[in-house]
Amino acid sequence: MGLVPTMGYLHAGHLSLVEAARRDETFVVVSIFVNPTQFGPHEDYERYPRDTAGDLQRCEEAGVELVFMPAVTDMYPPDATTTVHVAGLTETLCGPCRPGHFDGVATVVTKLLNIVQPDRAYFGRKDAQQLAVIRRMTRDLNLPVEIVGCPLIREPDGLAMSSRNAMLSADERQRALSLYRSLCQARERIQSGERNAAAVIEQMRRIVAAADPARSDYISVVDPDTMQPVERIERPVLVALAVCFGSTRLIDNMLVDPGGQNA
Ligand code: AMP
Repeated sequence: MGLVPTMGYLHAGHLSLVEAARRDETFVVVSIFVNPTQFGPHEDYERYPRDTAGDLQRCEEAGVELVFMPAVTDMYPPDATTTVHVAGLTETLCGPCRPGHFDGVATVVTKLLNIVQPDRAYFGRKDAQQLAVIRRMTRDLNLPVEIVGCPLIREPDGLAMSSRNAMLSADERQRALSLYRSLCQARERIQSGERNAAAVIEQMRRIVAAADPARSDYISVVDPDTMQPVERIERPVLVALAVCFGSTRLIDNMLVDPGGQNA
């Protein structure tokens, strides 16, 4: 059995995970659950886009065998007091900007894995830190599941696919292309020999600032295994950023190998 955990409002990024599960010839289960515990009190839980009928149709067309769509009350009895916390990996990038977010993610993924009991679970590299957290958690807790990481899927113009893209105005959507543009510049610069992470970040910051974002949470160059900031780029690095346009927070990343083609 293969599980693809999602928060719904399914797009081609989600469906690429379904495809990966189908290629592995698993019985494909998609879970759709907008998990309230991974949203902060001032985040977009209420505003998060939802489209149950459309999602079910997309799952059916994609050959999904079973959709698990629990209610919040099914997942969280009022007296539930247990959470899963992954230390270290959650202390950089999105961790400090979204206190409690990764505890919410780790806890709900543990619950989904225990309920569905899949052999494999599929996660996108769009959420690279989340994937690292889940890999570490399943290893540390001996969860009997294989975690499969899948490529980040982009729109034709480079914008990383995300359910949150639906919340962008046309103008914000255009300005949001600065994330991908800054990542491509970073890759080019690193592969042309730049080894100083601060210089790469400064150039990205200029590109993003020119698009006039409401807020920039971070622009970082980190070790892809530990998520810790890197100063000298000597090995493949994860270049990652989180930027808000209007009240929509977008994340994007790229794995860059200084010695060659990007991965
Ligand atoms: P979400 O519904 O945003 O929680 O995402 C559910 C799963 O789909 C996560 O494993 C995400 O990393 C993955 N995902 C979302 N967007 C993309 C994308 N553009 N490319 C690849 N995977 C994605």
